[in-house]
Amino acid sequence: MVSSRSTKYTQAIVAVLMELKHATNAELLERLHGQFPELSATTVHRATARMADSGTIAEAPADTQGSMRYDANVKPHDHFTCTSCGGIRDIDIVDDVLPMLTNALGDCRVTGRLLIHGSCEKCHVKLSKSQV
Ligand SMILES: [Zn+2]
Ligand SMILES: [Zn+2]
Repeated sequence: MVSSRSTKYTQAIVAVLMELKHATNAELLERLHGQFPELSATTVHRATARMADSGTIAEAPADTQGSMRYDANVKPHDHFTCTSCGGIRDIDIVDDVLPMLTNALGDCRVTGRLLIHGSCEKCHVKLSKSQV
């Protein structure tokens, strides 16, 4: 049974995720709490799990605390994540580097998408300033 209530939440969750591009359940709840004070963590958790199952949204690499993060972009893609602030952005490089990786790996095959770690522009600038 799908109540109009849960549809309302589901649509709101998707809208916030589209805006944030990647978000944990906690981040989604935080953003939606002003609009829906009665919204519970369980409801968000159930809605995102159901949408990830049906392919409406995708699973993204976990954040720095290991929390599950969801992705508004359901097309397969690679990610860059900042080890300082945990920020994440979409990149698409696997096709370009696959021949190189396959070569280096020998008999092993790359089947998943890539997650590149580093320092985002914001953190990079902050780091290089504090080092001066
Ligand atoms: Zn950063
Ligand atoms: Zn993504």
